Amino acid sequence: MTATPTIDGSQPVSAAPTLDVEAVRREFPILERLIGKARLVYLDNAASTQRPLAVLDAERDFETHAYSNVHRGVHTLSQEATEAYEGARERVRRFLGAADAREVIFLRGTTEAINLVAQSYGRAEVSAGDNMVVSEMEHHSNIVPWQMLCQERGAELRVLPMDDDGELILEELDRLLDERTRIVAVGAVSNALGTINPIAEIARRVHDAGAVLVVDGAQAVPHQQVDVQAMGADFFAFSAHKVYGPSGVGALWGRRELLEAMPPWQGGGSMIQSVRFDQTTYAPLPAKFEAGTPEIVGAVGLAAALDFVDRWGMEAISAHETRLLERACAQLDDLPGVRRIGNARRRASVLSFLLDGIHAHDVGTLLDRDGIAVRAGHHCAQPVMQHYGVASTTRASFGIYNTEEEVDRLVEAVRRTQEFFA
Ligand code: PMP
Repeated sequence: MTATPTIDGSQPVSAAPTLDVEAVRREFPILERLIGKARLVYLDNAASTQRPLAVLDAERDFETHAYSNVHRGVHTLSQEATEAYEGARERVRRFLGAADAREVIFLRGTTEAINLVAQSYGRAEVSAGDNMVVSEMEHHSNIVPWQMLCQERGAELRVLPMDDDGELILEELDRLLDERTRIVAVGAVSNALGTINPIAEIARRVHDAGAVLVVDGAQAVPHQQVDVQAMGADFFAFSAHKVYGPSGVGALWGRRELLEAMPPWQGGGSMIQSVRFDQTTYAPLPAKFEAGTPEIVGAVGLAAALDFVDRWGMEAISAHETRLLERACAQLDDLPGVRRIGNARRRASVLSFLLDGIHAHDVGTLLDRDGIAVRAGHHCAQPVMQHYGVASTTRASFGIYNTEEEVDRLVEAVRRTQEFFA
């Protein structure tokens, strides 16, 4: 293989703690499912991870015994629900290494978080003639909200290019940044290529230029120990369903002084201090950005998911996934007719590939017959596909519960797919 992935830390993979994968798997009954006659091999973790019993139980327990609306009630259940919800906020704060739980806003997920920043911070700070930068490898959710903002404000959207290995060309960033740059938005880890981007380095350059850095952390949270302060982000967005939690919930972290200065985004209940027809005043953080009833159960599930991750240890998880990725890359590189897409020096968990003469969707469909769940398509990153001149790829992505045997089954199924179409 041409590049060795490394985990995002100083320790070599061989020195990292090992993971008892069989014990992990016992926490995920869904992994025992049969697809046809084959046992499920779930390799679609970059789309959504499965939830362990600890998460399902925490949600069910809360729903069974303590469910109520939050914040407004004086009764016992409402107080317990509020404690659980605010406890989840504190749990997210700790997970992100943030200074203050009021900097954590619960939202539907990464997409909603980025839209909030674009529409609140962006509308307030970006004017005609300004510019902002996104990278070529962004997920659509870190492109389209900014395009909409730039169109509305008459600002320019600049693109930080990547090379053919799938690494950002940082020297180009210095060329793109100028005194009119207001925002730079970059993913910490690419969902299409697995590239781990040097966020701290990018942050230094962005701040030197006087702009703010929005980090799409959707693919980083299951693989990296995140420290939003150390990485130098100004905003950081992630979704629970990528890190063993439920869908429909996620969080935005933002630096407090920025969030405090920002206008509210959606109006409604819970985000106000007082409402009169001649003047409404807004609640302090974080309520200012949480109009309406939030995804209460989801927040409880997210907190349980972060406990789950901590219990096994991020260092052990990312080392385990890196071993799987290395094994898969090495084996696929030995097969003729396989083109891997993305070869950055530092990658996490994602393996995008093409088979000569076979459509990515056909590959996905045939792998499914062997019980192997992968994703085929443009992965909501069409500019990445355009860079490589392809319409789609097949993507296998690894999680905490995947095994070496599953990697071997993937490779064997790829070989059979090639034979089928030969
Ligand atoms: N950014 C990246 C890098 C992603 O992988 C995803 C999910 N595929 C998103 C953003 C969007 O996340 P969500 O759909 O949970 O809002």
